[in-house]
Amino acid sequence: MSRFTLAIHGGAGTILRSNMTPEKELAYRAALEDALKAGAAVLSANGSAVDAVRAAVCSLEDNILFNAGKGSVFGKDGKQEMDASIMDGSNRMAGAVAAVRNIRNPVELAYTIMMKSPHVMLNGNGAFEFAQLHGLAIEPDEYFYSDFRYKQWQQMLDTNQVALDHNVRVAATGGDGKKFGTVGAVAMDNLGNLAAATSTGGMTNKAFGRVGDSPIIGAGTYANNKTCAISCTGHGEPFIRAVTAYDVSCLMEYKGYTLEEAMRVVVQEKLPPIDGEGGMIGVDASGNISLQFNSDGMYRGLLASDGRYEVAIYRDLES
Ligand code: ASP
Repeated sequence: MSRFTLAIHGGAGTILRSNMTPEKELAYRAALEDALKAGAAVLSANGSAVDAVRAAVCSLEDNILFNAGKGSVFGKDGKQEMDASIMDGSNRMAGAVAAVRNIRNPVELAYTIMMKSPHVMLNGNGAFEFAQLHGLAIEPDEYFYSDFRYKQWQQMLDTNQVALDHNVRVAATGGDGKKFGTVGAVAMDNLGNLAAATSTGGMTNKAFGRVGDSPIIGAGTYANNKTCAISCTGHGEPFIRAVTAYDVSCLMEYKGYTLEEAMRVVVQEKLPPIDGEGGMIGVDASGNISLQFNSDGMYRGLLASDGRYEVAIYRDLES
């Protein structure tokens, strides 16, 4: 039997039970379960950690509930631009894509860049051309559209503010709008290899061309078999400045911290003073998993071959 661990997130932010309807909560839980199943199917068949995180993230990108792929947020110009990245901890190869439009699964484009180009990151039109060249699925604007996120953007349009998707309350939805988000997955496969992937539509009302932490290797995503695989979610700018995902790896490598200790220090102690609201998921090569956030909630899940299983949303224990 193969030995593996997998964790996923669907974004962090002001996610409160009081703002949720039972129907929506069920839909989120089902979506998280589907993504865990997609990743676990790869791992239980002895597939690689890289293929598992791709499968889990694609499942979340295809679900309109999350701010990644289909259902991405709108920028200031009314367009949906997406960022994604993937990293293989066995060889520290990485691929990333920034500010792309119309790519059905940005994580697949990041993977293709990692596998088939000499580069780590492509952006905008160049990334789109590369996607066409390699036959990736392209979709029209309507595919990515969601009424909910359009309303979120309309509310912020006349301001100079940007917001985490989960933190924009949309009156038109009955006040249950503080939710949704960036997606990510981390895994350890049967060979002990680690991988991480993250995908996002970014922040509502962001400037044209703005790139967050999600596609930045070391900030939103990092994997190294020696230490850990990390995928972050939260306010991208502080996460970039704190080199967040790599900082966890450094604390483990240079200070001998456990995964749990390193993630706690970074998320609870280092990010808050620089307004780094959000969280992260991590696994290490011993099969440990940690899910940390400093916001009210984080859509999250984990599954391991030894029977560990959890799908949760809120901060409190019955989440
Ligand atoms: N980190 C993402 C960004 O800043 C947003 C999120 O996690 O929801 O683009």
